[in-house]
Amino acid sequence: MTINAYGARAGNLPLEPLTITRRTPGAHDVRIDIAYCGVCHSDLHQVRSEWAGTLYPCVPGHEIVGRVSAVGAQVSSHKVGDLVGVGCIVDSCKHCADCEAGLENYCDHMVGTYNGATPDAPGHTLGGYSQQIVVHERYVLHVHHPEAQLAAVAPLLCAGITTYSPLRHWQVGPGHKVGVVGIGGLGHMGIKLANAMGAHVVAFTTSESKREAAHALGAHEVVVSRNPDEMAAHADSLDFILNTVAAPHSLDPFFSLLKRDGTMTLVGAPASPHPSPTVFKLITKRRSLAGSMIGGIPETQEMLDFCAEHGIVADIEMIRAEQINTAYERMLKGDVKYRFVIDCASLNA
Ligand code: NAP
Ligand code: ZN
Repeated sequence: MTINAYGARAGNLPLEPLTITRRTPGAHDVRIDIAYCGVCHSDLHQVRSEWAGTLYPCVPGHEIVGRVSAVGAQVSSHKVGDLVGVGCIVDSCKHCADCEAGLENYCDHMVGTYNGATPDAPGHTLGGYSQQIVVHERYVLHVHHPEAQLAAVAPLLCAGITTYSPLRHWQVGPGHKVGVVGIGGLGHMGIKLANAMGAHVVAFTTSESKREAAHALGAHEVVVSRNPDEMAAHADSLDFILNTVAAPHSLDPFFSLLKRDGTMTLVGAPASPHPSPTVFKLITKRRSLAGSMIGGIPETQEMLDFCAEHGIVADIEMIRAEQINTAYERMLKGDVKYRFVIDCASLNA
């Protein structure tokens, strides 16, 4: 089927209207009419070829929500009319140790929702800045939030799970003091989720203008990280830091804030690396540096259910597809509270 989409033909070109095709649903496929798609900073990194290996045309978008419009004959987990979501994963090998553990995000053959290998035209996957998508049922999530919240649910499919998964893995909860660094799409979800898990949350931002807003998101304390005195007030006190920053920066000031055995987990994926941390910052308090990438399918469903139960959605600004290039420039300036979401009805001819 031919549908409308928005994407780029090269890394140095703006996004523009494109026509793409989707496969006819196979036995285990679900076809989704996309209602909304969130705009992740990874979309910008990828479409502008800031990471290696972008294939063109590139249609970004991996925070997809919508309604099932067709299912294959063997599909048992979804039916026409269901509200569903698709995140960053549309396929994996399904039989390695990672897939069997429900950690498809770490499968060596994980297929990303865009820029992944597929036999479908044009030979790589095309994402959610489009009217429809066809996905194997295993990678389609159930949405239990009220339909009125659907647009604000979209960012949970990447920003939500990418922050939920490390918070769970490092067992954040009551009695923990947790730092969230970078209050953008991921960071604002990190604050909401860590708060809902019962932690004492400290938000770290470079933007004075976000100080009050970070409190409103659920941060118990807010630190403007450019201010050394404010940073020093938290020395050796944090159990865990979730670093979501999209640009290279010195990690050392944040290591100084971790207490003995504390961990800083990087989820931000800047185009060039952070400077190497000072070894003595790590060894003197047995501190750890870790990384985490999105989350597996069962955990993504768990996160969506947790958010539905706790009334958690993203704070969004809705845009039409043709506003995407301006939205990218504003995202680079930190000028969004906190996630752009494309109204995919704007793609209807
Ligand atoms: P975003 O909305 O642009 O937020 C990034 C935040 O980082 C900004 O709001 C800003 O927060 C802070 N920041 C400080 N200095 C910056 C600078 N020079 N340039 C840009 N940001 C700066 O981005 P996002 O969508 O949350 O994504 C954050 C990063 O995570 C990206 O690199 C993205 O590719 C990556 N990511 C990784 C995964 C994963 O699986 N690990 C998944 C999704 C996204 P303050 O204003 O508060 O300082
Ligand atoms: Zn993302």
